[in-house]
Amino acid sequence: MRRKIMAGNWKMNKNIVEAADLASKLKNSLSDVKDKEIVVCPTSICLQSVSNALADSLIGVGAQNLHWEESGAFTGEISAPMIKSAGCTYVIIGHSERRQYFGETDETVSKKLKAALKHHLVPIVCVGETLDEREKNQAFAVIEKQVKGALSSIEEKDLKTLVIAYEPVWAIGTGKTATPEQAQEVHAFIRTLLPKSIANETRILYGGSVKPDNAKILMEKPDIDGALVGGAALKVEDFEKIVKY
Ligand code: PEP
Repeated sequence: MRRKIMAGNWKMNKNIVEAADLASKLKNSLSDVKDKEIVVCPTSICLQSVSNALADSLIGVGAQNLHWEESGAFTGEISAPMIKSAGCTYVIIGHSERRQYFGETDETVSKKLKAALKHHLVPIVCVGETLDEREKNQAFAVIEKQVKGALSSIEEKDLKTLVIAYEPVWAIGTGKTATPEQAQEVHAFIRTLLPKSIANETRILYGGSVKPDNAKILMEKPDIDGALVGGAALKVEDFEKIVKY
């Protein structure tokens, strides 16, 4: 049985006070949820205040990015040990916005994944095709390259906590969602790309305009093991409905 993960990616939204306030509200509204893992990923500057606000709750905190080195001359970056020291247990890696706007590649994703695993952060590795790639029938090839690229040079035994998020780029922030059938097809495909020893246990989340009214039909698919939610994770009522779909 794969326990579902319902994760909110707050992207570059909320200041320190607002983020702590949203976290406190979620702590109250989601206190009765025991059957799923819930995670919120605020900006790096808010990680500590959100961790404090969520103390004594079952909601985990994740960073939206990390650098692969532990410290050094990398202005503007944060490392796995720093993320851990702010109370986090998860980290998003290779989100399509990072790939698109900040030059992340399969190679940097792989280095970041290695660093996260080394420091016992649960990595949520994002993969997904653009609209152009889907229309050219390249979706599966793109996803295969991203998954294999991320896992390259990482030993199978170290991948036990790996989480993958399938996020079709054309569905992120657009209001367009992959149909449950489209998502299930890709999730099942991603599972075939994973080493056999972890394939059945690895959680594969769906992300891309998940909303209260489509969460249930997506989550009911056999290979969809949770959601990575952007916009709707910023509204207490919407995220609560999604988590409790
Ligand atoms: C995301 O940012 O990971 C995401 C899926 O965004 P949205 O839910 O807004 O499409």
